[in-house]
Amino acid sequence: MARLFTHLTSPQSAKSWCEAERKNLKTIGFVATMGALHAGHASLVERSKSENDTTIVSIFINPLQFNHQEDLTNYPRDLMQDISFLKNVQVDALFTGTPQAFLGQSFGVPADELPDPGIYAKGMEGTFRPGHFAGVREIVSRLFGFVGPCRAYFGEKDYQQGKVIEQLAEQMRGINVVLCPTLRANNGLALSSRNQRLSKEGLRQSIIIYQAMQATKIAWKQGEQDPKILQNLMHKRLDKNYFQLEYAETRDSEYWTTDQPIKLNNLARVFVAGKIEGIRLIDTLCLSE
Ligand code: AMP
Repeated sequence: MARLFTHLTSPQSAKSWCEAERKNLKTIGFVATMGALHAGHASLVERSKSENDTTIVSIFINPLQFNHQEDLTNYPRDLMQDISFLKNVQVDALFTGTPQAFLGQSFGVPADELPDPGIYAKGMEGTFRPGHFAGVREIVSRLFGFVGPCRAYFGEKDYQQGKVIEQLAEQMRGINVVLCPTLRANNGLALSSRNQRLSKEGLRQSIIIYQAMQATKIAWKQGEQDPKILQNLMHKRLDKNYFQLEYAETRDSEYWTTDQPIKLNNLARVFVAGKIEGIRLIDTLCLSE
């Protein structure tokens, strides 16, 4: 049966809507997004629809998690297109609103004055985007407060973010965080709203990220477990003049040490971040799958 689509134009109206759903004993699945929706977002929605009575999506470009004003200004925005996308994938509700309504007292607060985002925020994204995870933690805790979901769906592509949010959800209790697989373009590039800012050539060049991760995976499967050697292998593959590498490292995703683990276990992952044509791309792959 086709679902009725509701556009709630403030977080407060979303809160009331969710309260009514809960009163009707419906389980709520939640997908937080910054818009410019693509098949990756749709996969989270589909998963939520399959596991909950009702699914609600937020679109909010959170200024607190951007390090550069330019990146925030250039972030793609097309609400009309996103609304028809969400109608197509048949979510029950979307909520949007002003930064003041989403952030309340945190609006305009510097990242170092926000609550600490926890141990998983250290290293990698945390190093290259100072304050980013404090901004993420802040908005997600507010979103969770508005929606009160039973389950919240996030992409593995932003795996470190997923760990920060898992820890937050443990503290808030009652919310299950579900990390979902990364959807990729044919050349292996992880789908991302930022990809639409790449030229054709940039899109073609972006294949090296997936290739470097795959090469690491093959080496790991052949028995190479020394993080330094795996890291060197990636650095060599990613050493191209069109790619500005920020980091390429392996981590044990269970124990998440900020030091490199001595031996990677079955939950080892590779993480890469860098820029092509000034567009920042990040990706990750599980080595054992
Ligand atoms: P964003 O709109 O970029 O903030 O992403 C919203 C959610 O979609 C986050 O949980 C992302 O990790 C997830 N996501 C983004 N890209 C993908 C993808 N290619 N595959 C699966 N999930 C994704």
